[in-house]
Amino acid sequence: METTYDVIVVGGGPAGTGAALAAAENGARVLLLEGTGRLGGMAVHALVGPFLGGIRSSVVQKVLKAIGGRTVDFAQLDVQLYDLLSSAGVTILLHAPVVDIIKEEQQVKGVVVHAAGRKQTFTAQAVIDATGNGDVAYMAGVPYESGREGDHLLQPMSIMYIINGIDPERRFLCGSEEEARKKTVGGQTWEDIVTEAQHNGELPPTVGVVRLYAGSLPSRAIVNATQINGVDGVEPSDLTHAEIDGRRQAFQIVEFLRRKLPGFENVYAELMPSSIGVRETRRFEGCARLEKEDCIKGSQFPDAVVFDAQFCIDIHNPAGSGQAVGHDTTKQGEAEHCRPYQIPYGCLLPKHVDGLLMAGRCISASHEAHASLRVMCIGMAIGAGAGAAAAWAVSHNCQLRDVDASQLAEYLK
Ligand SMILES: Cc1cc2nc3c(=O)[nH]c(=O)nc-3n(C[C@H](O)[C@H](O)[C@H](O)COP(=O)(O)OP(=O)(O)OC[C@H]3O[C@@H](n4cnc5c(N)ncnc54)[C@H](O)[C@@H]3O)c2cc1C
Repeated sequence: METTYDVIVVGGGPAGTGAALAAAENGARVLLLEGTGRLGGMAVHALVGPFLGGIRSSVVQKVLKAIGGRTVDFAQLDVQLYDLLSSAGVTILLHAPVVDIIKEEQQVKGVVVHAAGRKQTFTAQAVIDATGNGDVAYMAGVPYESGREGDHLLQPMSIMYIINGIDPERRFLCGSEEEARKKTVGGQTWEDIVTEAQHNGELPPTVGVVRLYAGSLPSRAIVNATQINGVDGVEPSDLTHAEIDGRRQAFQIVEFLRRKLPGFENVYAELMPSSIGVRETRRFEGCARLEKEDCIKGSQFPDAVVFDAQFCIDIHNPAGSGQAVGHDTTKQGEAEHCRPYQIPYGCLLPKHVDGLLMAGRCISASHEAHASLRVMCIGMAIGAGAGAAAAWAVSHNCQLRDVDASQLAEYLK
């Protein structure tokens, strides 16, 4: 196979999908390298869904149309994405983890894939890091920050899983902390029932809310409740502990649901994810940094590549259960709302490294701004911004830092 491309996208999650599609549609020869056997990122590996986040993006619209809307079909998503990207002309390699980079002085020139004991090198004018953890940016020596200001604690990880066996006539769903405060079971709010179980040891202390989302059948639900604090998604020892503890929590929650929820007496864990869900790891230094206030106030930027992004500041408490309210673990809060905001190109562009863009949850942003932009539709739109910019640089034969981002706006909206 060919080893030289215009653009290499590393990572086939939401950001990588947006990046590869936008670059290919803008005329670039694109190679997408995904380390696992499936496209879709957290959605397929960690059973995460639906595709959340308000956005004005032609690329996101195209992807959502191709996959049938915002609900994730966990069985088919990867094939749907493969068909969409390959019909746009993207060359896709699965089982192709990137383990090293080719860098000359400050210019990233390519990447090295390690598959079945063999190393293969691919080169390109632009490399887009859509790995979530920012593996390529890390290897390129781009400085990064981790966690919240002060104590550097990260958002917790969660095992999301599917239960079956619910009596469809008595199905109970709860999508958020807000709903848990309003919905009642046997005269008690769902929040009170969960808190009581947390205090008497029936539930792990970090499980402050048990969210139950609609599954693909009335007898199914997706459970988003487990929470593992104090772990870092780039440390295998932390990940090992988190995977095992998270799965133990998942089974404890199934027992609790059987006992406490009418209609759930016969539920069982039907499907566990192949990987724990990781919300936050490295955030790399860029030429600009998105701040919490930008999201709250709805900031606009002359070099915007993401338009009308909207999602709350969703910080799963890094130090306890529920939503974080600042650093105070004693208060149970609600996520702060945002106005539609833009993300500038500078957040995707590393300060001192050429030939590289970041996309998805690893871009330059504060802990709080990241908590809003990390959802999948916004991540995909960030990817689209990176892909369009990389294709522009290729067609104008210039460095990524010389891209005129204002030229990309019409296509991206
Ligand atoms: C528990 C949980 C619940 C969530 N709930 C929702 C929700 O309901 N809705 C929503 O919209 N968002 C949700 N999110 C957030 C969202 O899933 C992620 O923030 C989003 O998937 C990040 O997208 P990404 O493309 O940046 O990274 P990812 O989705 O992580 O994709 C990165 C891809 O890169 C690949 N990769 C990594 N390293 C390499 C390498 N070295 N070489 C090659 N490939 C590599 C990975 O295998 C993966 O496929 C949730 C997250 C978690 C953890």
